[in-house]
Amino acid sequence: MARARPARGAGIYSIAGPRWQDVRALVDQYLPTSERLRQLVPVLVVGFTLIASLGFYFQISSDKDAALTAARRQLALNADVASLKLSGEALASSADWQSQLANSLPFIATGDGRVVLLSDAEGGIQARAPIGSDYQGNLLTVLGPGQPLTIMGADAGVMRVRLNDGTDALVTVRNVRGTDAQLTLIQPVGSALAGWRSKTLLEVTLLICGGLVIVLFAGAFWYLTPYGVKNDKDALTRELSEALPGCGVWRWNLARGHVQWSTPMFALLGLAPSSEVVPYGTIAKRLHRDDDLRTELDRHLSEGINTFDQCFRMRHADGRWVTIRLRGHITRAYGNSEPYLTGMAVLADSNAVPGAADANARLRDAVETISEAFVLWDSQNKLVMCNSKYQQFHGLADDIVQPGSSYDEVIASASEPIVSKRFAVAGKADNDSRTYEAQLEDGRWLRINERRTRDGGYVSVGTDITDLKQSQTKNAENEQQLRASVAELRLSRRELEHQKQQLVDLAEKYALEKNRAEAANRAKSEFLANISHELRTPLNAIIGFSEVMQQSLFGPIGHEKYQEYARDIYSSGAYLLEVINDILDMSKIEAGRMTLDLGTVDVAEIIEESMKVVSQAAAERKIELERHGPEHFPIEADRRYLKQIFLNLLSNAVKFSQDGGRVDVHLTRSNGNLKIAIKDTGIGIAEVHLPKLGRPFEQVENQFSKSHQGSGLGLAISRALVELHGGELEIKSREGHGTTVTCTLPIRAPRPVDIEEPLAKSA
Ligand code: ADP
Repeated sequence: MARARPARGAGIYSIAGPRWQDVRALVDQYLPTSERLRQLVPVLVVGFTLIASLGFYFQISSDKDAALTAARRQLALNADVASLKLSGEALASSADWQSQLANSLPFIATGDGRVVLLSDAEGGIQARAPIGSDYQGNLLTVLGPGQPLTIMGADAGVMRVRLNDGTDALVTVRNVRGTDAQLTLIQPVGSALAGWRSKTLLEVTLLICGGLVIVLFAGAFWYLTPYGVKNDKDALTRELSEALPGCGVWRWNLARGHVQWSTPMFALLGLAPSSEVVPYGTIAKRLHRDDDLRTELDRHLSEGINTFDQCFRMRHADGRWVTIRLRGHITRAYGNSEPYLTGMAVLADSNAVPGAADANARLRDAVETISEAFVLWDSQNKLVMCNSKYQQFHGLADDIVQPGSSYDEVIASASEPIVSKRFAVAGKADNDSRTYEAQLEDGRWLRINERRTRDGGYVSVGTDITDLKQSQTKNAENEQQLRASVAELRLSRRELEHQKQQLVDLAEKYALEKNRAEAANRAKSEFLANISHELRTPLNAIIGFSEVMQQSLFGPIGHEKYQEYARDIYSSGAYLLEVINDILDMSKIEAGRMTLDLGTVDVAEIIEESMKVVSQAAAERKIELERHGPEHFPIEADRRYLKQIFLNLLSNAVKFSQDGGRVDVHLTRSNGNLKIAIKDTGIGIAEVHLPKLGRPFEQVENQFSKSHQGSGLGLAISRALVELHGGELEIKSREGHGTTVTCTLPIRAPRPVDIEEPLAKSA
């Protein structure tokens, strides 16, 4: 968990500033503050308005005087020119003074409201210009009494008089040479001042507009300048000091190296407060030699980091070291873009800040309880904190893991675990953070996260991921096994498909063979049926003729031996017919062609009849035959087949009984069925042979079977016929102790669905 230092860039802001900045600072010092300007603005506006108004007043009055003077000059000039042009002789000889006056007047004589009057010796106005002028009658009447103009003429000059009609006017009078006529020029003062008035009006308008604009600007300035905010740095510092006791405010001009401290900052160091700017050199003298604040700030500037959060040691006035934490922001001054660090300084000693001790303890507890190894370095590669897991992991002594220990010291005393493998975790690395996994020599795995903090420090967290890695390995193994199983399954599926195909082939073969076997069976049955039929016809003849010969119906046979032969032929024929009938029945059963001819029959009676048939053979060998149970027992069955069943079973019982034995037949009802048990005391059947009995042509090999005739079909036919009735046949036997064959028949036999043909009656 080693930390990496960032590459140091070039282009550190120069600490020494240019000369003009000093001048600028000086100017700034004497410039009025915005608050002062706010107070000055109304005064300045009023003063400016007064001065401008006074100046303007003097200006327009002098302009008025000038306009009047110019009007007087103009009037006098016109009067002089006109009087010179008028000749007394012409006037005396001409009665048309009007035209004489018109000819004598200069072009502009009647401009600007001027009126020219020509009066005779008595003062009577004889001519005027303009001709429509209102002035008529006597000149004296027009000019009013008591004025020296008419008497003094040109000597009176231009006078300002109030005319008889009340008009304030400039008047001048000239005597016409050689006559008593007088030329009078009158210009109302109003007309004379018309130009001055319009010019003044324009100027007044401009002045008012200008004044309004100034008032507006002043008002806006007054309004926008915040009231009550003093640009007084001392006041701000004082307010901050009061609001945050124990927090020193720093304002550090990084370009010039000037630092302003608030009063609490001095108090933190036990110094007397001062409003003077502190040069950085003075501060540096109090700094611990390992804590180079300026280098740190140069790094912030070169790397463009604006946030500053740093702990450093300063010597207190009483000589001890105090750790101070300075947190602030680097800004650029408006205008000259000089960098400033403005920040708050507090004592980093946890005891100095109320509540900080608790918070620190809680933080330490939290870091201690996490399952990861945690370490935090500050921007100067000094240990801020680490937990015991980190300590154990590196085998660090307690005294070395104290806050403030340098990275080099810590690493030097650490027993660095040997890393055998190291992998960067994909997609997680950037300039400020990286994540990697490392395997230690002892087999453990660590995931290490390293990340840069905002203040340039470094935090590193190592997580033990051995379990995770083991489970990953296990998962990989499982996956491999799974893949192997899938491959095996695929193989077995292929095998199964192959076997399935083989089975399909076999099934096809089996179906073919079955069809063939069935066809063969059918052929066999047909063959047996045919051959039986074919054999029975000659057999009947043999039996019939041998019986005729035996009974000597057509006279005696010559020799005794012939008689004996005829008997043998008869019994052999009868036996052969019996065998053929059995084969025929069996083949019919196997071909499924045996059907029942149902009817209500008395089983007791049928048994009685069957017992009668075997009774002779039994009597010959002294075997006792007895029937037990009800006298009548009607059930629904095929009479002929029942008789065939009982005959078979009874003849077997007699056949396989020793002489003097006994055969008992029991009829009982049980659960809606009829049970007929034929019990003998004969030789019995070995247990191994029992399962085979009832299958066609199965015989048990013993001394009796050798000495007794039999086709081995009797039991098979009996069982098939019992089952055809819906019943079952059970054979119980012990060798040497006799045999019991039990036939269970339903009292109401099931009706066959289709009845093909009635069974051919055996002979
Ligand atoms: P078979 O016509 O040869 O008697 P069965 O089908 O009737 O044919 O009998 C088959 C064999 O079962 C006989 O050969 C005999 O060995 C044996 N068996 C049948 N019934 C009895 C019995 N009651 N006691 C002893 N053995 C018997």
